[in-house]
Amino acid sequence: MNTLISHIINPADVKAYALAGVLIALVVCLLALVIARILRNPFRYPYFELDFDVSGKRNVHIDNLVDEWLCTPGTWNQALDHHRQVEAWKKSSAAKAEGSLGPLAKRRRRQLAETIDDEREFCFITVRDQTRYHQRNYQRTPYKVSVPDRKLDVDLAWLQERRDALSAIGFETTLRKYYAKNQRRLMTPALRQQIAERDNYTCQICGKYMPDGVGLHIDHIVPVSKGGKTVPSNLQVLCSKCNGSKSNR
Ligand SMILES: [Zn+2]
Repeated sequence: MNTLISHIINPADVKAYALAGVLIALVVCLLALVIARILRNPFRYPYFELDFDVSGKRNVHIDNLVDEWLCTPGTWNQALDHHRQVEAWKKSSAAKAEGSLGPLAKRRRRQLAETIDDEREFCFITVRDQTRYHQRNYQRTPYKVSVPDRKLDVDLAWLQERRDALSAIGFETTLRKYYAKNQRRLMTPALRQQIAERDNYTCQICGKYMPDGVGLHIDHIVPVSKGGKTVPSNLQVLCSKCNGSKSNR
């Protein structure tokens, strides 16, 4: 009896059991981690992401920004390059799924199918700088953060269609602006300046040179009233006289 009690409460044994318990718990935790890692979805869809900084801008339409981006040389190749990368990623991921061990292959195939997201391959996001403040010891320190504003997720077919429509109007402006009812409102100071510089401040009918801009008119070649658009190809510099005689005709 004595030996039994002394055996149960032998302090060395208690230590040994505790150590074994901790070790077993550790191994179980490690095993759980490894299993969770194996079961986890290893695939990540390679989205095309583009941010537009619209800080301080009002009435932002994200489709205008996407159109302007599509009108910029080189961007279409960028989009096609990305699409090729996605196709390559799909192929290598499928091979990886098939190469998985026995019952895991089925799970991997399902995970890959869930990850493929071609409908939203291209993500366009408008972001705004926002001023925030740190408050410390009665002192406010401002700092800037970029905050997502709006998002447009599209597939390659949408982008292709958009590009075709822009190509049909010579990549001169955005679709929203081209089909806007009020074309006169699209005449901005920046566009005026652009046309004046292009035409070298010279009346396109009589050749009068107006470097100081006095009497310089920006004329719609096809009048707005007849469906003319506010795009560079339909704009020209005229002097007051020629502009006046043109409107009388
Ligand atoms: Zn003139």
